[in-house]
Amino acid sequence: MRANGKRVVSRLEEIYQCGKKEDGTFTRMAFSEEDVRGRRLFASWAEDLGMTCRVDEAGNLIARMEGQDNSLPAILMGSHLDTVPDGGRYDGVLGCVGGLEVCETFREEGYVPKHPIELIVFTDEEGFRFGKGLTGSSAICGQDPDVSDSELDIYGEERGKVMESYGISCKDMPKAAKDPSSVHCFIELHIEQGARLYKTKTSVGVVSSIAGVNRYDVTVTGEANHAGSTAMADRKDALVAAAGFINRIPEITKEYGNEFTVATVGTIKVTPHSVNVIPGTCSFSLEIRDQDAQLMKLIEEKLRESLFDTCGKYGVTCTFVPTSFHEPAPMSEWVKGSVEQAVKELGIDYSVIPSGAFHDSLIMTSVFPTGMIFVPSEKGISHSRYEYTEDGDIENGCNVLLRTVLNVDK
Ligand SMILES: [Zn+2]
Repeated sequence: MRANGKRVVSRLEEIYQCGKKEDGTFTRMAFSEEDVRGRRLFASWAEDLGMTCRVDEAGNLIARMEGQDNSLPAILMGSHLDTVPDGGRYDGVLGCVGGLEVCETFREEGYVPKHPIELIVFTDEEGFRFGKGLTGSSAICGQDPDVSDSELDIYGEERGKVMESYGISCKDMPKAAKDPSSVHCFIELHIEQGARLYKTKTSVGVVSSIAGVNRYDVTVTGEANHAGSTAMADRKDALVAAAGFINRIPEITKEYGNEFTVATVGTIKVTPHSVNVIPGTCSFSLEIRDQDAQLMKLIEEKLRESLFDTCGKYGVTCTFVPTSFHEPAPMSEWVKGSVEQAVKELGIDYSVIPSGAFHDSLIMTSVFPTGMIFVPSEKGISHSRYEYTEDGDIENGCNVLLRTVLNVDK
């Protein structure tokens, strides 16, 4: 039994076209007209296969195909159809269309799985509209999606109003929680969004875990003073001290971390922010990601040490404040094993890799046995119109998904 790669590629394009906007870009922002169009199209394909579609209380679109024994827990597949602005054809969509391809292949071959199958199109994975994502998967997992009808999106529109396009409201969201006993496992096919598979010319990644993320706010305090009349020796320049520390982040990460450890300063602000004034304070964000919580703690300690050291040298002071912790999320051993077995049976080259980016699987794995399959992103580019995955890799990914479903159905 084989997936039809051509069909998948053409559907990826059809969903992409649903995001066409007047300014010539392609975007399916959660709850937007374009997003709703994409979901309708997806639902119509599922219905053509005789699947029953419903939208749950959190707006997740769920297409169900009955199995031989519907008292058994369901095998879940899926991902998201919403995109970032001017996003690509693959991020999220592949997991939805790939899951559909598995169901369509089963139908064509007259194969009825023992377990029922549910395809899920999760609500607002990307989260840029309201500044928080993974909304649908959080609700399905019984976690508080942290939403309110009165909160405003980036355009100043109220969430309650915006979500009318899905026919849902915040107060009903908790009802979307799935009973863990009703779920056999969840499998998500996704593009890597990094360059590891691409660089090593590997067609498939078996995901080991999703990286944890720890975030901190750092403020370096020196002395604002006249940029013309203060001699270099007399300065307490907060930015120079901050830059000295930031410059050391790559070597510290390399020395104490592994090839997957990353640390980033993504925002930076100086005051008074004037062309003729020495920066008195410099505040910036710091983020550490890795698969190993203990290693993340070690990197944190080493970075903190270096920060205080550097500030001491420049005669400035600093604060280092943790703002959020997300534990690394390992994939379920048995689902991961089923994915790996599937790749081996198909004779496709693969490697076991972690995910540096968040996915719905990050939330799903906290409640349900979860596995993820990656296919390469050319040059590691994602969240962009230039996102590209070769057709052959798409087909391989879908075949691994199909074979994995057969394995977990046994
Ligand atoms: Zn995604």
